Amino acid sequence: MFRSLYARLAAALLGLFLLFGAFHVVSTFLTTRLYLQEVDQRVNWTLAVNLSSEEILMTNGRINQRALERIFHMLMVINPSIEIYLLDPSGRILAFSAPPGTVKRDHVALAPIRRFLAVKDRLPILGDDPRDTRRQKAFSVAALPRRPGAPPKATEGFLYVILGGEQYESAAALLRGSYVLKQSARAGVVALFLTTVAGLGIFRLLTRRLRNLTGTVDRFARSGLSERSLDLEASPGSDEIDQLAAAFRLMADRIGAQVRELKQTDALRRELVANVSHDLRTPLAALRGYLDTLLLKEDALSPSERRDYLETAARHSESLGKLVSELFELATLDSRQTLLEMEPFSLAELVQDVVQKFRLAAEKKGVTLTAEPPGDLSFARGDIGLVERVLENLLDNALRYTPQGGEVDVRLLSENDFLSVTVADTGSGIRAEDLPRVFERFYRAPARESGTKGGAGLGLAIAHRIIDLHGGRIEAESLSGAGSRFRFWLPSATGSAHPGTLESRPA
Ligand code: ADP
Repeated sequence: MFRSLYARLAAALLGLFLLFGAFHVVSTFLTTRLYLQEVDQRVNWTLAVNLSSEEILMTNGRINQRALERIFHMLMVINPSIEIYLLDPSGRILAFSAPPGTVKRDHVALAPIRRFLAVKDRLPILGDDPRDTRRQKAFSVAALPRRPGAPPKATEGFLYVILGGEQYESAAALLRGSYVLKQSARAGVVALFLTTVAGLGIFRLLTRRLRNLTGTVDRFARSGLSERSLDLEASPGSDEIDQLAAAFRLMADRIGAQVRELKQTDALRRELVANVSHDLRTPLAALRGYLDTLLLKEDALSPSERRDYLETAARHSESLGKLVSELFELATLDSRQTLLEMEPFSLAELVQDVVQKFRLAAEKKGVTLTAEPPGDLSFARGDIGLVERVLENLLDNALRYTPQGGEVDVRLLSENDFLSVTVADTGSGIRAEDLPRVFERFYRAPARESGTKGGAGLGLAIAHRIIDLHGGRIEAESLSGAGSRFRFWLPSATGSAHPGTLESRPA
């Protein structure tokens, strides 16, 4: 409880107020005491002079006892708290009005007396109180008239009057002594109390939003970092707490998205491992079966049968090799170890080259393969080896899924900062429900034409990954039962689009 921010703020506020209160009490006590002394001294400034002008108190060092007693008596009647001392020029006490035995000093310091006589500033000037060896009090003093023929500055002595006044030794005593101060102290305590209550209320309001935020953060953490809708109140102000809430919302969104992505990737990875094991195991088992049979029945088999078995085994090992190399290719593309060797190259020429490579296979299958002549000399920016791989995969698929008598057409287009290549065929086409998934790893749409032998379902995934690395885009389209069309875009060498600039990618 006391570890909460609110408790700490409240404790700090109380501490500060107490400190301030204590300071205020002490300073008020000291100033009031000084002020009272100042007023006392100012009012009685000429008291000693007036008294000494009434009578001649000393002549040639001798005290005029009768005159002194008259003055003592006069004062006793007017103000009994005043004490009178007769001092010699060195400050020694010669006579006093106080009751005998109460005077504790035989000397008083001359410095305050000189200050008093010199100027009337910075009151109160405090002088030694003869009745207490440590205390100082406000006083009035008069230098007694010079004796005739004495040096100009010499005096007979001083009439030193201690202005009794009330002596307050503590703030409590001062308070007790004054109605006004008592009232003002009461008002001070009430004001302090009210400010403290108001301060605590304000802190409570301020920390409430912080507490809400902490609660939300807590809930988010307990939800496994994936809670989507965080009820962070969107207040109109934008103080630090709002900014913190906004920053947290942003962070939570990112974390949530990443956690979901990680889960998805994890699921994908498991599926991938399952697919890979299955795809590896099937040809491997077949391969072993044929080789085992060959070993077991070597003598019982006719040479043509033996050749048949060997050919089947070789086919399986070939598809196994292809699968392994495709897997390796994808893994390298994924691990970002592949540093793309980006360079400008003529896409038209590359298309011609690849088409040329497939011409024989197309003829063999009875498929017409057309590509527009390399009139457009637009240069694309990319890794030519990888782009060639994409073209090969697309053409390989197009020929594979197009029956005899069909057509495959390759077209090049220049669009803004991009160049696009379209591979269209008049083959089996792709069902609408399969279209969004053809670029997934290991995805193979159910064969529509019996006898069409597909691969492992990695070819389009590899193509997609390569185009992605180039900051381009690839998409598939089915021509309503009349074949399919694959199209990809690459940044052109002259354009301002750079790989990864999503905004400038074609829509
Ligand atoms: P595969 O090695 O099986 O061809 P791909 O990743 O290249 O794997 O293709 C994935 C799936 O997309 C294929 O199994 C096939 O069903 C479909 N497909 C790809 N290209 C074509 C095409 N030109 N015509 C019809 N279907 C296609």
